[in-house]
Amino acid sequence: MTEFTENSREYSSFNLGNVTFNCGDTILVKGASSMEYVADIVRVFTNNDRDVYVELKWFYRPEDLPGGRQEHHGAEEVLRSNHRDIVSARVVEGLCAVLPMPEYEERQAKGQAVFRDGQALPTFFWRSNYNVKTRKITRPPKKFCVCRRPYNPDKLMVCCDSCDSWYHAKCMGMNEEEALEPGKEWHCLKCIETGKVPRAKAEKLLQETEANTAVRTLAGTKKGEQPAKRAKLQAKKKKKKQQQQPQPPKTARRHKQKGDAS
Ligand SMILES: [Zn+2]
Ligand SMILES: [Zn+2]
Repeated sequence: MTEFTENSREYSSFNLGNVTFNCGDTILVKGASSMEYVADIVRVFTNNDRDVYVELKWFYRPEDLPGGRQEHHGAEEVLRSNHRDIVSARVVEGLCAVLPMPEYEERQAKGQAVFRDGQALPTFFWRSNYNVKTRKITRPPKKFCVCRRPYNPDKLMVCCDSCDSWYHAKCMGMNEEEALEPGKEWHCLKCIETGKVPRAKAEKLLQETEANTAVRTLAGTKKGEQPAKRAKLQAKKKKKKQQQQPQPPKTARRHKQKGDAS
């Protein structure tokens, strides 16, 4: 196994094809399956062989977690981990970006890609950490809704007009069209039950929704009687990302690659 020792030579960057990778860059790494791995470059070095090595700190995909992918995980979600590895620079596939979730959502909403040297980068978002030693998720995302699960930025949420609490549209039994219906109000059952909504209005809503049934029946009213919902939609605005996949250097280029390290 390759190690960084006192005899190793450290570099601040390396070149692969026509792309320069710097320490601190986030990269895609070839995986065993079709899915690429995501990691930060911590260190670049050479030993007394002809290879360039990178020490990486991995991001975990939800699929790599003990519990696997959950309902609340976004398609482009990754978790920052404390798992490090040293690999040959030849397995590096290309640059990518991992943004904190608020910035990711803002860019998604505006259709703004992350660019590097004129190329749009594959972009992921991060909100939680994963500790590989304890196998625990730290910084778990905030929970919402009657299901007490986190928010998935790819899916619709509806907001109560009384308490401003957010609920998953799906948990409220709403489809996209219902959740995005503009103009009217929507109140959660909690607000209706606790009298936060004015009595007359609450009675009307309760009548419409059969007061004693589960909250999900709120949306089970017929069309036209439907209370309106404020909603936000991220998924629709999603821009197709441009994939950039530089070829790994051929064997003959290995020596040059070492010389390229600066
Ligand atoms: Zn829910
Ligand atoms: Zn409410």
